[in-house]
Amino acid sequence: MVDMPYMQQSLCKDHFVKFFEKRIRRTIRVNKLIDGKDTIAVGLSGGKDSTATTYLLHELLKENPNVRIVAITLDEGIGECRDYSTQFAKDFCKGLGIEHHIYTFKKELGFTMQDVMKKVDYVPACSFCGVFRRHLLNVKARELSADKLAVGHNLDDEAQVGLMNFIRGDMLRMARAGVLIDIVKDEHFVPRIKPLRDTPESEVAWYVILKEFAVEPCTCPFAGEAYRNDVRRVLDMMENGHPGTRQQIIKSMDKLVPVLRKEFTNGKKPAECERCGELTSGSVCKVCEMKEELGF
Ligand code: SF4
Repeated sequence: MVDMPYMQQSLCKDHFVKFFEKRIRRTIRVNKLIDGKDTIAVGLSGGKDSTATTYLLHELLKENPNVRIVAITLDEGIGECRDYSTQFAKDFCKGLGIEHHIYTFKKELGFTMQDVMKKVDYVPACSFCGVFRRHLLNVKARELSADKLAVGHNLDDEAQVGLMNFIRGDMLRMARAGVLIDIVKDEHFVPRIKPLRDTPESEVAWYVILKEFAVEPCTCPFAGEAYRNDVRRVLDMMENGHPGTRQQIIKSMDKLVPVLRKEFTNGKKPAECERCGELTSGSVCKVCEMKEELGF
């Protein structure tokens, strides 16, 4: 039985799987995440969330000949664990018959995360890696002519990031939150969709186990953003005492986001980075700024 305290119920395997898939379909339908003729690029790391996202999109859309799904795997150069998860992603896509592309930080950016970590040990690796990953996923999805980029962010991820942005007062980032990120209307930017946004992380883990996907857990040697870990602990504690807290945070964010988008972004056209031509809110994009800071 899978316990769902926020609904005050537990479901058996079959009912849980049905419920899980129905909720994903609902998230996609209610938020109009997919058009019947989309090319959808999926960011597939080989972890549980991206594997479930890839599988579910494939299952939902395989009967539609007008929809194309392509999976993108990024190898950041973090060591052995990514080698395993990349191989898993390759086999998984092959099994489903999904077009799959693998890109490495080394080839695309000229350096790996191991190179980055030789230069900095005072900031969490994820601060750099996250920016580079987002950038490359967008560039590669665009090159593959994708209309949407699907990512595997689940309810826990979204609630954590929402709370972090709120604590930091980062209104621009909050304005960019949501299940569909299409705030930037520009040919450089591929809109992002998050089919798992309403699904708790523990239930994604259950789904992957019950479907018997041989997901390779990749424990990145550079993982562990202290601030985020603290937010996660606080939220877990709140959720245990008050089931449904994460859903409430997401609901509150959904009310705030349209207001923030109007206030912070309305009518403002993003600029192009003067060095690489990608979109930026200033004159130089974050990727170019970080590369300069790192001396690459
Ligand atoms: Fe990159 Fe951080 Fe993920 Fe490691 S845990 S791959 S450093 S984002």
